Amino acid sequence: MPFDAILGQPSAVGTLTQSLRSGRVHHALRFEGPDGVGKEMAAMAFAQALVCTGADPLGCGTCSACHRAVTFGEGTPSVPVHPDVILVERGLYPPESIGRRTPEAQDISVDQIRTVVLEHASFPPHEGKARVFIVRRAEELSISAANSLLKTLEEPGQGTHFILLVSRPARLLPTIQSRTLRVRFAPLPDAIVMQLLQQRGVEPQRAREVAALAAGSASAALALIDAEASRERDTFVETALEAMSKPDMVAALQLAETRSRDKRELRGHLEALATRFASRSRQAALDDDARALADSARYQIVLQAMRELERNASPALLIETMLMRLRAEET
Ligand SMILES: [Zn+2]
Repeated sequence: MPFDAILGQPSAVGTLTQSLRSGRVHHALRFEGPDGVGKEMAAMAFAQALVCTGADPLGCGTCSACHRAVTFGEGTPSVPVHPDVILVERGLYPPESIGRRTPEAQDISVDQIRTVVLEHASFPPHEGKARVFIVRRAEELSISAANSLLKTLEEPGQGTHFILLVSRPARLLPTIQSRTLRVRFAPLPDAIVMQLLQQRGVEPQRAREVAALAAGSASAALALIDAEASRERDTFVETALEAMSKPDMVAALQLAETRSRDKRELRGHLEALATRFASRSRQAALDDDARALADSARYQIVLQAMRELERNASPALLIETMLMRLRAEET
């Protein structure tokens, strides 16, 4: 069930699920709370419940409508495939597609509201059940965009719903505030942030430290972890390159010893090293430099090590062997 995935917001989720169960859903909701606490997930779950073709008023999470109502992961389309779940966000659409010459640098323009919302809102939903507009960072609506939206917010067409996501409520125009019903999202408890981090493979002790810094925001916690991971990857690559050129194996052995604890982390490190050799080789080839071949061979050596890692070879031994083979490549 879509709402089960939302952790640490019992009050907001309770309000939303109750309204869905009773069939009395306010047509214009405003989700208020800090960034990274689940407002967007809740909006997607709510949209799923509204367009779901199954029998469960909270959405089944498995029918075609439910699947198409949400955006998936990173790198995949950033707007839902379902024609009745529509995102509004500053800069989300190419300028020409919303009748503009310039990107929306400052705010959500009246052009976007006109083309993405108003031109559709008076028609019935495409697939019959409901239509949901989700406005990300609604406090970025320009004054003219907000004004153009007021009438529709007050009296949307049959089956049309608005969910405004707001993290800086003081910046939202009072006219918009008064036409929307607030649902509050609190900062997440540290225990929930810790749990999310540990699900991503972060050690409990580190998860506790990061959760304390993240002020109840899952996205802030993940950003902290990502920054840390990319620093560690850089260090691994530099140390490996250095170890390759040292006359003795001491540095290489140290690297093998310290970097072999976490398989997932090591995989990321090896990927970064492979990428480095690949780009060095490409550049050398462009420059007609003889080192292109050596780096290409090194790239293959790192790929070999990554395959061994997947086959559960001992990480320490694998790094050591890899570094020895890398050193052996003539430059
Ligand atoms: Zn469904």
